[in-house]
Amino acid sequence: MRVAQLVPCTEAEGPGRRFAVWVQGCPLGCPGCCNPELQPREGGEERALDELAAALREAQDRHGLEGLTLTGGEPFAQAAEAAALAARARDAGLTVMVFSGYTRAELEASAEPAARELLGASDLLVDGRFLRERPEPRRRWIGSANQRLHILSARYDEADPRFTAANQVEIRLRGGALEVNGWPGALELARGRRA
Ligand code: SF4
Repeated sequence: MRVAQLVPCTEAEGPGRRFAVWVQGCPLGCPGCCNPELQPREGGEERALDELAAALREAQDRHGLEGLTLTGGEPFAQAAEAAALAARARDAGLTVMVFSGYTRAELEASAEPAARELLGASDLLVDGRFLRERPEPRRRWIGSANQRLHILSARYDEADPRFTAANQVEIRLRGGALEVNGWPGALELARGRRA
């Protein structure tokens, strides 16, 4: 899998503590994308499934993870690889959350078996293009008002109070660089695009 970034434990990219993977590459090109450097397929680095699964297991032991989050970039642009990692996470008892620029309807209608495989291996899906003109700062994990959180398995239910908790961001200093994750609008603010 072509990966831009890994965070072994975050609480800003889905419910509970999660191992988050930002995949490299997205063909959708939303104006105002909060991660434009993740759009080219080139970039990031190639990571083998076994290597990612080992890092996930280590993080699970160390942090007591609830799940894996796949974001990007576009996870469904590497659906086969993402589905394989999602399956490993599920085998380890973890939940899987995926952020996609495609809508659930587009993914369910996809002719690509791997896309349906990844959807089938996911417990939560946040879907839809990012629309810069419709920012959504209130709903957790949602970047713009058109996007929806879909509960895809019995591992979660709509009454979970974490789904309606306040939006949050995490800021960490790594290798001298400031990293922000959580609500995409916060990243834009941090970059001074809306200031
Ligand atoms: S789907 Fe997400 S990563 Fe892709 S261009 Fe749109 S905002 Fe950026």
